[in-house]
Amino acid sequence: MSSESKSPISAAFRRAAERADALAGSSNVAGEPLRFAAGLYRVQGEVAAAIQALHATRPLAGRLEADGGRLVEPLRAVHRYAAEVAPPTLAEVARERLSEPPEVAQARLSVYWNGTRDDREDFLSRAALRPYVEVLVRNKVPVDRPTAGRLCPHCGGQPWVAARRPVPNSHGAQRVLLCALCGSEWVVNRILCPACGEEDPDKLPAFNTERYPTARIEACETCRRYLKSIDLSLDGHAIPEVDDLVSLSLDLWAADQGFARIEPGLAGV
Ligand SMILES: [Zn+2]
Ligand SMILES: [Zn+2]
Repeated sequence: MSSESKSPISAAFRRAAERADALAGSSNVAGEPLRFAAGLYRVQGEVAAAIQALHATRPLAGRLEADGGRLVEPLRAVHRYAAEVAPPTLAEVARERLSEPPEVAQARLSVYWNGTRDDREDFLSRAALRPYVEVLVRNKVPVDRPTAGRLCPHCGGQPWVAARRPVPNSHGAQRVLLCALCGSEWVVNRILCPACGEEDPDKLPAFNTERYPTARIEACETCRRYLKSIDLSLDGHAIPEVDDLVSLSLDLWAADQGFARIEPGLAGV
């Protein structure tokens, strides 16, 4: 398939940045994380375009051990952005990583790449690797990484948000999960905890509040994990991973109830 016939890889990142900017203007609580996200998307879009150009010169292998040497320099743009704009703790980590030699940087990315699903707190590695993985998936290069216990059928990433998506020409809606690492989505049963497989509706409570009509917490009492779900039948312009940030207070509430998010969102929560 020719990539020339499709929109540039940076287009989806640009749309997400525009949505984050638009929401930041109307949200005083989440304005700061939304503006940070908007800038991050713009940088990731540029990095994705640079990696797409590398792929056009010589195809990527889909294995970080093989591709990593060519990626370290372009991916540094994500760390430079975080070092300048992120909240202080994250900015400090980004500055430290920028001072590391390339082989250390590559080894650090490999830890995230090969790690278990519970090594999920490395916000910077996830943010840096996303443009790479998105280029692989878009160019149909198989993503070669350990996938035991992982969920995304395209890259083995974790879902960071769910959505209810209307099915065209019907009154129904699908439940989809969206991958934090490659941006893909996949359809899942409405009554199912993706973390532990629980299917008993009595163990899968959902919580919402009038304040955020498009968002709800889908929790599991068996494993105490949860997903945030965004209802796209109520707002067709929503981009779930971006709109998720508007209702950060729901995440704080869920944490108070003893639920842990399956995968942190864009704000790292
Ligand atoms: Zn994925
Ligand atoms: Zn569960």
